[in-house]
Amino acid sequence: MVYALKALKITWQHEKNWLLLSVLNSLALGLIPIATVWVLQKVINSVMLLIQTTTNNYVIPLTWLIIQFFLTIIHSALQEFQIYLDRKTEERLEITLQQKVLNKVVSVSAFYFDIPDFYNRLERISGNVGGRFLNPVRGMITILKEVVTVTTIFSYLFSIHWSLSALSILAAIPILIIQRRVGLKQYLHVFYNTSLSREVQYIQFMLRDRSTSKEIRLFRLGDYFISKWKHKSKDLLDQSLKLLRKGQIFTILGEGISAFFYLLAALIIIFLIKNHSLTVGEFVAVGHAVQNTQTSINNIAKRFGAFKEETLYIRDYFDFMNYKHENDNNLPGNEKFPNPLQLGITFKDVSFTYVNSDVKILKDISLHINPGEKIAIVGENGSGKTTFVKCLSGLYPLTKGQIFFDNIEIRSIKESELFKNITVVFQDFIKYPYSVKENIEIGDVYHTGNIDNIIEDVSVKSGVHDFISKFPKGYETKLGRILGDGEDISGGQWQKIALARSLFKDGEIFILDEPTASLDPLAELAIFEKFDLLTKNKTTFFISHRMASAKIADRILVFKDGEIVETGNHEELMNLNGEYFTLFKIQAKWYEDNTLNQSDTLKSI
Ligand code: ADP
Repeated sequence: MVYALKALKITWQHEKNWLLLSVLNSLALGLIPIATVWVLQKVINSVMLLIQTTTNNYVIPLTWLIIQFFLTIIHSALQEFQIYLDRKTEERLEITLQQKVLNKVVSVSAFYFDIPDFYNRLERISGNVGGRFLNPVRGMITILKEVVTVTTIFSYLFSIHWSLSALSILAAIPILIIQRRVGLKQYLHVFYNTSLSREVQYIQFMLRDRSTSKEIRLFRLGDYFISKWKHKSKDLLDQSLKLLRKGQIFTILGEGISAFFYLLAALIIIFLIKNHSLTVGEFVAVGHAVQNTQTSINNIAKRFGAFKEETLYIRDYFDFMNYKHENDNNLPGNEKFPNPLQLGITFKDVSFTYVNSDVKILKDISLHINPGEKIAIVGENGSGKTTFVKCLSGLYPLTKGQIFFDNIEIRSIKESELFKNITVVFQDFIKYPYSVKENIEIGDVYHTGNIDNIIEDVSVKSGVHDFISKFPKGYETKLGRILGDGEDISGGQWQKIALARSLFKDGEIFILDEPTASLDPLAELAIFEKFDLLTKNKTTFFISHRMASAKIADRILVFKDGEIVETGNHEELMNLNGEYFTLFKIQAKWYEDNTLNQSDTLKSI
């Protein structure tokens, strides 16, 4: 009930007019049944009078018939008005609440996306939040309407015979109990199956999506995934059908009980007619009234029963909105980012463990980086390079230790300030299915003033301009085919777009986390060299698992098992004859074999 009241509060905050109008409308609707019963009795009695006597006065029965006609129209109009109000409010509330959910999703730290519990909660509240919020509120309004109906009709029945109203109350009890049980079960089904239905959806997505289509075919995974999808879907279906069957048995049982009580009521009516204590009008009207009470009490019971289920969904919403993981030690920092950096970046005993694991991925890293320094990070796959970047960029909160920009600790810096000044291009950067221009300006959507010149400038520098100018629509050329007919460009060209985007952002610190991994090593080296020139005074990090790219750096950090095992420039590290030397030698052969092509490759970048 607490959550139903919370829903009511939120609805009141956002849709006050709807709430007031709905209450008024429902009160009017609640009075319709007694009015209908009463008018029906009048119609029949006046018609009977006309038939049974010699009078030819048609005015009275006609008047009652006209009243009955208008009552039907009013009833229908009020109902339709309520449907319209509900629909409008539901959609509006959906936008308001989904916006709150999306705000929460984008505000949480990136590591939340590693937590299945977070995903599952998000999944449970992803569809139709507006409707679910409105349901218990609608329930309360319906109960109010039915209470008006029941009390007025009760008084009417009571005036005929007390036992008729008593019977109606008795009929309500079993229905109430059944509705509560069925409602809770339905929710529990959704609750326990969220990860299963997520898997089903994910498999479907993989089979349909363009980005996965090549691999699915090449590995001949079609049948494998379809059969997996079929099994899981069948499991889901079996469970929900089982639940449906149970619910239906309960419903039949409930309706049987109602019918039994209705039968008793009919016996009482027959008894009363036999004793001549009812007119024909009253006889028909009482039958109608008993049915009406049954329907109303059924509705009240259903709405009460459904409260449990409906409010459990609302609890999910509030649980999600208040969800905070224990590792979330981010402070609401409000310091500015020290731009330009004067002292540099300092790592102090930095350790990091992912939420869903016990393995320390970064182990007590201590390090100082000078402002403007060009750092290369190398190391085998899985040695912790990307994790280092995730921590450095503030995407993941540290498990232990501190990172300082000048002498301001990362957590004291306002998040928007931090992200404004740190630019990271990841290997899996986003390929927006928009125009070239938009793909670049997305680098800094807060940029004001004329940006066309800047876009062209960064495009020339990153090599985008060369291939874009060949398209008839130039910078307005749409890319990709997700949102319709766009140009398909190569992986290398997308990478240049990503670099142009990062240059447009113009941060204080640039990090390239293998965005060039799909290029050949020499092409990658050429991009790194170019990028190095373009980001002259900025502090820059290049990550690559290719040693040759590291040569251009002021300093190289060699990662191994979450530790920095060597640091120095290329010559120093080669002289050390250690990890770097070994990795370099393993790859050196490739470069020797390809030196002939090197100048050609560099030209093509
Ligand atoms: P690198 O960039 O050097 O290839 P990463 O930093 O990506 O290495 O990964 C280091 C280790 O952390 C790997 O063993 C990887 O399996 C693990 N790891 C990476 N991301 C996650 C994650 N989101 N959750 C759990 N473990 C992760």
